[in-house]
Amino acid sequence: MSVDEARRLAPRFAARAAEHDRAGAFPVDDFADLRRSGLFGLMVPTRLGGAGAGFAQYAAVAYELARGNGATALIFNMHASVTGALSSVTDELADALGLPPEALAARDRYLRAAAEGSWYAVAMSERGAGSRLSQMTTMYEKTGDGYHIKGAKAFCSGAGHADAYLVAARSSADPTQVSQFLVPPGEGLTVEQTWDSLGMRATGSNDVHVDVTVPEGALLGGVEGLALVIAQLAPHWMVASYAAVYVGVARAAVDAAVEHVNARKLGHLPAVRSRIGRADAAVSAAHLAVMEAARRVDDQPGDAETNRWVWRAKLLAGTTAADVAASMLEAAGTSAMRRGHPLERLYRDARAGSLQPATSDVCADWLGVEALGGDPDSEGTAPRW
Ligand SMILES: Cc1cc2nc3c(=O)[nH]c(=O)nc-3n(C[C@H](O)[C@H](O)[C@H](O)COP(=O)(O)OP(=O)(O)OC[C@H]3O[C@@H](n4cnc5c(N)ncnc54)[C@H](O)[C@@H]3O)c2cc1C
Repeated sequence: MSVDEARRLAPRFAARAAEHDRAGAFPVDDFADLRRSGLFGLMVPTRLGGAGAGFAQYAAVAYELARGNGATALIFNMHASVTGALSSVTDELADALGLPPEALAARDRYLRAAAEGSWYAVAMSERGAGSRLSQMTTMYEKTGDGYHIKGAKAFCSGAGHADAYLVAARSSADPTQVSQFLVPPGEGLTVEQTWDSLGMRATGSNDVHVDVTVPEGALLGGVEGLALVIAQLAPHWMVASYAAVYVGVARAAVDAAVEHVNARKLGHLPAVRSRIGRADAAVSAAHLAVMEAARRVDDQPGDAETNRWVWRAKLLAGTTAADVAASMLEAAGTSAMRRGHPLERLYRDARAGSLQPATSDVCADWLGVEALGGDPDSEGTAPRW
């Protein structure tokens, strides 16, 4: 069972986390473990050799992996997003959207490769545009038998180590059309080592430059302009897939604080005890919200109430992780602030949760507009996507 496998791997990841964090280095050994465990095929349908997991099972796996190392779980999340979104394009949905048969053959090829041990990174965000698809400056144009893509991407977790990159770009013929391509590493795709961040250092989220021509099969879905439609109809991968990761980081902070407090015999102090009690309750509540959103995504994807839960889950996970990690550091005291102490790293990693889109502020705005009776997708102060 994939969740048991993730639980088995988490302590191994935890043992290596400090070193990867210190060096800001991609967790090569963790990814070798993930490959061996077959987890790259988690979201791949069983007919193509994968585990055929739904979103709830993904969330359960991500939570366990993040208890070991949040950065590893975050890079894995990018791969799960690509394979999960591809798998959700069923033959019936493809018929309804009028997708060509070649696109389905390409989908199956990419998914089968994942089940066999390939993993995919996401090169969507850009400096200035963030992950807002409609603002991307990376452009593509149709060539005789494919597409030429040119642009610069930022924050690409696992850059330099992936077997292919999902690249989002706008059409130069019609810039309102945003499409996504799966681009192999090698000529035309270069990684610039720019990532030296406060938290989630081991994600190695470096810049990626593309100036590359890809065959027609690299266009995901086989039809141009699908990216924005999918982001709005099924926001769970882009909005809430990180949520399980940050709740796992928050739980790891509570676990690390308990270990520290017991080792230092601080458990008799009422303030320390109540910090741990409050943190335990907050993490458990955020975890329930994430699992409720995930359950609804599986049962009623795209439903209005499902989408409300998706935005709630991301908001609660991001704020809870930052608040809990800060409180656990205070409960543990200054010795836990030393470089190399798990709480010092977890505090910094947890800090990224609210900043990672959809940011906590954006989630709160979306939910507020919705609660006030507006249309939260179109009534943001800036384009949501
Ligand atoms: C650890 C980590 C790993 C990442 N990995 C990847 C990856 O693998 N691939 C990838 O493509 N990206 C990745 N990202 C990037 C991420 O998805 C964002 O694109 C990026 O963080 C955006 O940064 P930004 O500086 O443009 O800030 P923005 O998100 O643009 O935020 C700047 C400010 O504007 C506010 N804001 C943003 N949008 C709106 C809005 N619509 N309305 C109102 N206010 C708004 C925010 O709340 C914030 O205060 C990663 C990010 C992190 C932190």
